[in-house]
Amino acid sequence: MTTFVYDFSHGDKDQRELLGGKGANLAEMTRLGLPVPPGFTITTQACRAYLAAGELPTELPEQVNEHLSALETAMNRKLGDEADPLLVSVRSGAKFSMPGMMDTVLNVGLTDATVSGLADQAGDERFAWDSYRRLIQMFGKTVLDMDGDRFEDAIHRAIEGEGVDTEVDLPVERLRTLVEEFKQLVRQHTGRDFPQDPRQQLWQTIEAVFGSWNSPRARLYRRTERIPDDLGTAVNVVGMVFGNLGPDSGTGVAFTRDPATGTRGAYGDYLPNAQGEDVVAGIRNTVPLTHLAELDSRSYQDLLHTMDVLEQHYRDLCDIEFTIERGRLWLLQTRVGKRTAAAAFIIAAALVEEGTINLDEALGRVTGEQLSRLMFPAFDLSDERPRLATGVAAAPGAAVGAAVFDSQRAVEIAESGTDVVLVRRETNPDDLPGMIAAQGILTSRGGKTSHAAVVARGMGTTCVCGADGITVSADSFTTVDGTTVREGDVISVDGETGAVYPGEVPVKPSPVVAYFETGEVPVGDPLVAAVDRLMRHADSAARLGVRANADTGEDSQRARRFGAVGIGLCRTEHMFLGDRRELVERLVLAEEDADREKVLAKLLEAQRADFVDILAAMDGLPVTIRLLDPPLHEFLPSLTDLEVAAATGSTDQRLLSAVRRMHEQNPMLGLRGVRLGLVIPGLYDMQVRAIGEAAGRLRAEGRDPRPEIMIPLVADAKELALTRASAQQILADIGVEAPIGTMIEVPRAAMTAAAIAEYADFFSFGTNDLTQMGWGFSRDDVEGSFFPRYLELGVFAVSPFAVLDTAGVGRLVEVAVTDGRASRSDLHLGVCGEHGGDPDSIRFFHHIGLDYVSCSPFRVPVARLAAGQAAV
Ligand code: ADP
Ligand code: MG
Ligand code: MG
Repeated sequence: MTTFVYDFSHGDKDQRELLGGKGANLAEMTRLGLPVPPGFTITTQACRAYLAAGELPTELPEQVNEHLSALETAMNRKLGDEADPLLVSVRSGAKFSMPGMMDTVLNVGLTDATVSGLADQAGDERFAWDSYRRLIQMFGKTVLDMDGDRFEDAIHRAIEGEGVDTEVDLPVERLRTLVEEFKQLVRQHTGRDFPQDPRQQLWQTIEAVFGSWNSPRARLYRRTERIPDDLGTAVNVVGMVFGNLGPDSGTGVAFTRDPATGTRGAYGDYLPNAQGEDVVAGIRNTVPLTHLAELDSRSYQDLLHTMDVLEQHYRDLCDIEFTIERGRLWLLQTRVGKRTAAAAFIIAAALVEEGTINLDEALGRVTGEQLSRLMFPAFDLSDERPRLATGVAAAPGAAVGAAVFDSQRAVEIAESGTDVVLVRRETNPDDLPGMIAAQGILTSRGGKTSHAAVVARGMGTTCVCGADGITVSADSFTTVDGTTVREGDVISVDGETGAVYPGEVPVKPSPVVAYFETGEVPVGDPLVAAVDRLMRHADSAARLGVRANADTGEDSQRARRFGAVGIGLCRTEHMFLGDRRELVERLVLAEEDADREKVLAKLLEAQRADFVDILAAMDGLPVTIRLLDPPLHEFLPSLTDLEVAAATGSTDQRLLSAVRRMHEQNPMLGLRGVRLGLVIPGLYDMQVRAIGEAAGRLRAEGRDPRPEIMIPLVADAKELALTRASAQQILADIGVEAPIGTMIEVPRAAMTAAAIAEYADFFSFGTNDLTQMGWGFSRDDVEGSFFPRYLELGVFAVSPFAVLDTAGVGRLVEVAVTDGRASRSDLHLGVCGEHGGDPDSIRFFHHIGLDYVSCSPFRVPVARLAAGQAAV
């Protein structure tokens, strides 16, 4: 018989797959002896079974009932007992945290019959009725799929009618009628009464939580976070403890370090006399956690102690959800907390410093994505600027965009190409599409743990929340001094300081980029110091070298400063643009050898100067120069333009007929790469000569140029053999040596790598073309057309042009590596496609034994980090 239910005392933190993150960590805290209310977890396996069959597994009811009895014993209360009812929460929890995505229902077990028993037991009627109205509200929203606004509106009417500030101040009689109103809303919506049987409440909620795995917003969140769709969620049933029992009760969220800056200490938000979801929803404004020291110093000390225990145990920043019930601390959740990119580096380095983890582990605590985020510019605030408002700096970055007040509008305007900042009073999961589309998010309510803050941090989007100086309406916001900002007005949102400015604030470069440029660590800059520490370790651990793709001396210099150990791809096509286009035209039109040679001589001169520049910038380091790759007609006027001109009689007829002759239906599969070299007399010879002469010249000056000649688009060994032979002849005539290799970018080349390797000193995998030809996807066309649908259908979880498809294209690479090395053991192997800058792909390249990756200069630090991470 399958075990579908685990008591908290029977699991541990490593069972996230089965128990979900929340369940596994509740079990871990229980094992640690921390004060967790009793409870049990229904596994993700039960969820998967439910989703597959459309009904609950038959064994489940009995297993749940057994654990429920145990829970009743532990809590010394019975579900549905009119004198002293047990209440439970029913909480979703998947393997990966999905903030606000799945749903939780508190106070399950309250009915017309049990509510007064609860009131008597607590000695607090207001509390009992407040709990009951919360149950109906959450049950209505989560289980019955009702519009939450209907409940909120009823609450607001009650608050206004009573002339009080918040629902906490509603008198008991009004709460009773509110409950009646809520029940009426349920009846109107479903045609049935709110269930008065606690077990029915429980089972309906369990099914709803399972079902919510497939809600559109859960799917959307998973897609943006690349979480697989088939994991399912666990359900935790937890005995209720109450933070809404009066001023000596409350609920909060705590972090063992500041998730925004990484600074050590107790951070968080606390809300007296409240139940958990009040804090997360950002509905009421919280107080900083440190205020708890004054409100209830004993609980605060307990909390600090617990935070210490958890940090020591998880050896990382933990975030904690807790409740205080009449002066007694209860823990309801913990996990290794999300953090900003800067905090990730600072915390990892600090934990090394504190002796908690070693440098290898520290490398695993940061991501390339975080490093690249730190390389973005920030606002330049050297001039005093008036602010529109100040809120909580919830997720860093500098966002500039048109203010937009609705999620759907944000998506539309962003799609039209305008940067937007989404402004909301508070966000909820329905705002997710707009949050994804926006450069920045601004809310007027909620703290660092509000929905807006959590989601924005996860997505790496700038966010300022809780800017309570602004009043947000459906289509504008107004500041304290009466300024109104409407849709389309540009604002700047500073995720570092929480400031909101009118108009566009200029940005300044990132200190991390300055560090990479200069190698200097400014005194007292913990972020740069942390980056430096981890980068040095990554470099010392890495086996893969990181080169850059660069075509100019300037780019090469930057790549070198960023730590590139060579150029892995120097394209030569831009060297045929501009003024030189005319030379290409003449080359194409040349009818006599003498004409052609004249043109080639001119090109030779220009190319030689280009190569001198680059080889000088990379003195002592390898520079892989790719001979001309694109179809020649890319350098000629377009056929349409020429035909239009011909109609008015002003066209060079020879050019027109040449362009007609060269026109191709499918140029990416046409006359390009090595085919050009074999078909256009003198073209590749000229390029090889330019490289050889540039190297010869530098060598004569006492320098150390290291060119490597790369032949693109080879599909057959013979193509390479012919090209190589003439290149070698030319180099020998000049008296310089250079390795000659090829790109592996046509599937046939990968499959015939053994033969090709006989004529190659190196292979460089051109994974863009290899992906394009491997999948049969035209890269320029498909990403914007059917890829979104493919992602939705789960054909792949991420574009294969962004992250290497290891199962298919990666196999081609592996075959070529194995066969190539078998025929030539000293074959040098690298990658020069976009994938060379992607951390996941880099890990794969490390494992299949490549020697280097090559990526754009700006990406070099990320690739260095990834190369180090792959090696530890
Ligand atoms: P989420 O995953 O959205 O954070 P949770 O399941 O953690 O949802 O529930 C939200 C909040 O509800 C918790 O942080 C906690 O404050 C409160 N809560 C959940 N279960 C209980 C319980 N048994 N007793 C008291 N409060 C609870
Ligand atoms: Mg939670
Ligand atoms: Mg290519």
